[in-house]
Amino acid sequence: MPALGETELKSELRTRRERLESALSTGGESARLEGLLEEVDEALERLEAGNYGLCDSCHETIEIERLLGDPLLRTCLDHLTEPERRALEEDLALASRIQSGLLPRRDLATAGWEVFYHYEPAGPVSGDYCDLVPAEDEAGPLFFLLGDVAGKGVAASMLMAGLRATVRTLLGTDLTVGDLLARANRLFCEGAAPSHYATLVCGKASRAGRIEVANAGHCPPLLLRGGEVLGISATGLPIGLFCGTQFGATTVDLAPGDTLLLYTDGLSESRDRSGAEYGAERVSRLLAEARATRPKALVAAILEDLAGFRAAAPRRDDLSLMAIQRSPGARI
Ligand SMILES: [Zn+2]
Repeated sequence: MPALGETELKSELRTRRERLESALSTGGESARLEGLLEEVDEALERLEAGNYGLCDSCHETIEIERLLGDPLLRTCLDHLTEPERRALEEDLALASRIQSGLLPRRDLATAGWEVFYHYEPAGPVSGDYCDLVPAEDEAGPLFFLLGDVAGKGVAASMLMAGLRATVRTLLGTDLTVGDLLARANRLFCEGAAPSHYATLVCGKASRAGRIEVANAGHCPPLLLRGGEVLGISATGLPIGLFCGTQFGATTVDLAPGDTLLLYTDGLSESRDRSGAEYGAERVSRLLAEARATRPKALVAAILEDLAGFRAAAPRRDDLSLMAIQRSPGARI
């Protein structure tokens, strides 16, 4: 049983105990409630004795996030009963549908910009954050966001959805991208459990071709301009580390045809069968040498190269890629 979470678990169990006792005192299904009360007391005893949180089947540690949600769990994910497994699968399928519904249009063309992205969860849901918010009127800016919540699976996807909602609300204000990240960071720090953090690039593309980028510890976006690739370095710490983090912004003017590529570490940290890493260098080189020029073809070229590199190696992380191009026909 990891020390982390023990206090929370104890208080979760005690809260449940109090609720059960008050439910018992008002009558009702007393036999079932008494059974639950016994289970809670047993769990508290095991917690005191130091043998709490082990799977009945394999005696390995049960996942701490699951225990915090239900401290009475007796099996690890690998040893669920059939009804438990079915319920979990149904929940995941629903979560996956909800998450797909949060994604923007895949192939966006708006005043002066063309965008294409690829979003691929490692499991049913992803901890990657991908969003595009065009202005309601043609003259306004296009906001683009790509990030990665630490961890993966349902917990990460829920934090991602919460962060996305926060940022979307803040987009309606007149904050600079840097101040927007600072505000989102503060709200995330107040709301999320400690030890959770997220990396995020928040960018704003104006109709005139100017891009402002603030980066909370995410892989640096790459600017592809006439066969040359420039990295736009990170300007801040990940979101959720410290409440008072400030974020600066970098401004770049894009000429028609220039492209900005954003990606999550599911690309750069992909591994082949021998364990070698794909690496950020390879992404840059590939971009510089790419014969493809349009966003959709660039993304496809990277995915093809990645598939060749990984061969049959299993994918472990969520993967997202976004290419934002100043329309070749845009006025300078
Ligand atoms: Zn087990």
